[in-house]
Amino acid sequence: MADFLGKLVGGINKGVATVSANSKAMMEKTKINSAISKLEGECKHLAQELGQKVYDTYVTTGEVPMGDIERFSTEITEKLNTISHKQDELVRVEEEAQKAIEAAKQAVDEKYQEKYDTLPPEGIQCECGRINRETAKFCVGCGNSMQ
Ligand SMILES: [Zn+2]
Repeated sequence: MADFLGKLVGGINKGVATVSANSKAMMEKTKINSAISKLEGECKHLAQELGQKVYDTYVTTGEVPMGDIERFSTEITEKLNTISHKQDELVRVEEEAQKAIEAAKQAVDEKYQEKYDTLPPEGIQCECGRINRETAKFCVGCGNSMQ
C-alpha cells in the first residue's frame, strides 16, 4: 500500500513538474510573442512613414529622398533581425521546457526503479509482470489489488 501511494505521489510530482515547466514556458513565450508583435507594429509604422515621406518629397520637389530611405531601411532591418532572434528564443524556450519535463520524468522513474530493484525475487506476480511481496495488498507496478 505504501509503495502504491508512493507511486501515486510520484505520478503527481511528474504531473506537477510538467505543469510547472509548461506554465513557465508559456509565460516566457507570451512575453516574447508580445515583444515580437510590438516590433512588427513598429516595422509597419516605419514603412508607412517612409512611404509618406518619399511620396511627399517626390510630389513637392520631384526628388527621391535617398537619405530617408536609407535611414528608415536600416532601422526596419534592425527590427526584423531582432524579431528573428526572438523567434529563435521561442524555439529555445520550448526545447528547454521539454528537457525539464524529461528530466523530471526520468528522476521519478529512477526513484521507482530503485524501489523495484530492492523487491524480493520471490513473491506473487501481478498481471502486469511485477513481483510483489507475498503480503502485498496492491501491486507496486500498476496499483492493482493483489487480493
Ligand atoms: Zn501490477
